[in-house]
Amino acid sequence: MTKFKNIKNLGALAGKRVLLRADLNVPMKVNEDGERVVTDDTRILSVAPTIKALSEKGARVIVLSHFGRPQGQRDMSLSLEPLGQPLANATKLPVSYIDDCIGDEVVEVIDALEDGAVLLLENVRFYKEETRNDPEFSAALARNADFFVNDAFSCCHRAHASTVGVAEILPSAAGLALEKELVALESALGNPAHPLAALVGGAKVSTKLDVLTHLVEKVDHLIIGGGMANTFLAAQGVDVGASLCEHDLAETAKKIMNNAAANDCVIHLPTDVVVAKEFAANAENRTISVNDVAEDEMILDVGPESAANVSAELENCKTLIWNGPMGAFEIEPFDAATVTVAKKAGELTEKGTLVSVAGGGDTVAALNHAGVAAQFSHISTAGGAFLEWMEGKRLPGVEVLLADHLFKSTY
Ligand code: AMP
Repeated sequence: MTKFKNIKNLGALAGKRVLLRADLNVPMKVNEDGERVVTDDTRILSVAPTIKALSEKGARVIVLSHFGRPQGQRDMSLSLEPLGQPLANATKLPVSYIDDCIGDEVVEVIDALEDGAVLLLENVRFYKEETRNDPEFSAALARNADFFVNDAFSCCHRAHASTVGVAEILPSAAGLALEKELVALESALGNPAHPLAALVGGAKVSTKLDVLTHLVEKVDHLIIGGGMANTFLAAQGVDVGASLCEHDLAETAKKIMNNAAANDCVIHLPTDVVVAKEFAANAENRTISVNDVAEDEMILDVGPESAANVSAELENCKTLIWNGPMGAFEIEPFDAATVTVAKKAGELTEKGTLVSVAGGGDTVAALNHAGVAAQFSHISTAGGAFLEWMEGKRLPGVEVLLADHLFKSTY
């Protein structure tokens, strides 16, 4: 991670204009008064320390974000204006707002800001040029500032003007949250302590093919759970009855298993499962060997014997990367294996024998459900960016922050 500049490396910031890319695309709802209010402020809280740090250094902090998908149109139902107050609450700083993100008026307002002040710009995706990474638009964004700081890991898999274009023009650095995220990810997959295990669960193999393909070359243990385990079991000739299963991916599953063997990666599939005839909370169920699934039964969770085996394996591991639940964790009692393994991973992390990194929407919900999110070494709230990182892809918003790209501008 020494390759990345952080905000300290930007030097003295008093009086400087810093354009900060945040991800303020947070869940919101319309209340009885017709106002849009934030329902989950996780992302606001995650960028607050960077805003405060920049402001304390005397920088004028100009916050830039997208919200939703306005398709390059000015859609005020996706305005960032209602985010000003939550941002002020989280930072304990006054936050002003301007209804655009580029142009002479925006530059004038920024020039008139006091040192340490915070200004929220309007939704960058109101311009279609943003997602096209248009060079003129990037230059217009760059006119707002002396420095660029990216603190939005969840947007780093997109080469947009506000993540890549502007970073190619201004001297740039990672914000505190992005830096923390990159250090955690590096310790989990870039330069991990071995043995390294990956737990991949969730509904379907098809959505995580690239993840599985990449991981078998990197990890010592690949633990497969959730609906996707059914596809692997079926490929081995197991009758999975009425379970969610992608039979057409049998050959792909076999190829992944062969690649794993060639790379000394041990694949762990369930040996026992919990089955039911309906996908419903507290549906009548039984715990059986994977070989005993009846025609009309669905596998909805990994069984207790398999969950115990996974837990025992984690005792021997030094690093765990986790994406996707072990079963249909939203409906009881099919959350049992996810909760058992999550608790074990949390316990080993607290004990100091395991580095645990988890990410992806459902995974965060599953770990919160198990009550262990705070025990994990790092939990990424980024969805697409986390998965692309697990696929071994280079993330353009991170690549552009590499030292080589920095301070080469004419500023
Ligand atoms: P993903 O978004 O791919 O991580 O999938 C998460 C979803 O997979 C959750 O909604 C789970 O309920 C679902 N899931 C996990 N295991 C199973 C299973 N055995 N059968 C059906 N759905 C499952």
